[in-house]
Amino acid sequence: MIPYARHQITEDDLAAVLDALQSGWLTTGPLVEAFEGAVCEATGASHGVATSSGTAALHCAMFALGIGPGDEVVVPALTFAATANCVAYMGATPVFAEVDPDTMLLDPGDVVRRITPRTRAIIAVDYAGQPCDYAALRTLAEARGLALVADACHSLGGATAEGPVGVLADVTVFSFHPAKHVTTAEGGMLVCLDPDLAARARRFRNHGIDLDARERGRRGVFAYQMTDLGFNYRLSDIHCALGLSQLKRLPGFLEDRRRAAEAYGRNLAGLARVSPLAVRPGVSHAYHLYVVRVDFQALRLDRQEAFRRLHQAGVGANVHYLPVHLHPYYRGRLGTGPGALPVTEAAYERLLSLPMFNGITRDMVERVCSAVHALETGRG
Ligand SMILES: *Cc1c(COP(=O)(O)O)cnc(C)c1O
Repeated sequence: MIPYARHQITEDDLAAVLDALQSGWLTTGPLVEAFEGAVCEATGASHGVATSSGTAALHCAMFALGIGPGDEVVVPALTFAATANCVAYMGATPVFAEVDPDTMLLDPGDVVRRITPRTRAIIAVDYAGQPCDYAALRTLAEARGLALVADACHSLGGATAEGPVGVLADVTVFSFHPAKHVTTAEGGMLVCLDPDLAARARRFRNHGIDLDARERGRRGVFAYQMTDLGFNYRLSDIHCALGLSQLKRLPGFLEDRRRAAEAYGRNLAGLARVSPLAVRPGVSHAYHLYVVRVDFQALRLDRQEAFRRLHQAGVGANVHYLPVHLHPYYRGRLGTGPGALPVTEAAYERLLSLPMFNGITRDMVERVCSAVHALETGRG
């Protein structure tokens, strides 16, 4: 089976984790700061706050921006649930906006229509690894006095003409889940340019305590105070050791993924009912996912049946994502449902994610493509 995503662990990764286990620190030692520094260096950001997951980093971002009850935050409907959940965690309301059906990226024009006097922030999602139109989103956010957050869990290593993912929004969030470019098993990070915002996020990561244990040790003091209701969202030294080791291979990972995307594009170009997502001019795509749009209706093929045939052919296809407003939780809480976001819902019906991961080979891409060709020609 060629999986839709797969992590890669090398001898160097194993050695790095073993070293961490024997270093005398298990959690919140020197490797946390080292990993934060390395991610900043790779992304151009100036402050990093490592967290126990990407979701935790999103939650920290919402706290650091002061999002609270009564506030609204605009998020794309087509994303992983965590993008919206972090808003709900704060007692605020996620407001779903349409995506562009060619790129699946947040549509700035539709965001404008969703803004109310209660809106405080916009969370953009770099779907599949393609950076959003941050120039347009930033102009909009500045004009309306809103914070701009990048859920960049798909786009570590991506860039636009304005710069690398990491400096394009007020706050940027990464995930180090095994399906993502760089993994720490579970883990995430918030990066930004504003030191005060980073300090608030850092406090929220550690129960809302003003001085963490390592900082108290450094200063030789015992006293600390809890100033906010935070969480234990810390990432351990062991996890950061793995992340540091993996991050060194990020340029090669991106190369693997971009080469595979090119091969997919070439191989699928002849198909009438299967088309890759559009890539905006001038962006550097990080290809967390390789997503195609399939006209299942024209093929008279049910998506579940296509999924089954691909799996039978050894191809681990997937679908990203059920639009968040269609999940029972948000239907119940916000009264959203089918018809609320017609562009996104219609686009969702055609989505199919094909295998894409670090180390994917040309041969694997070809095997996937012949299974996709068989869908269109009705064989297999
Ligand atoms: C992976 C992901 C997250 C959450 O990351 P975790 O590390 O699994 O908590 C959030 N948003 C998007 C778009 C993601 O893909």
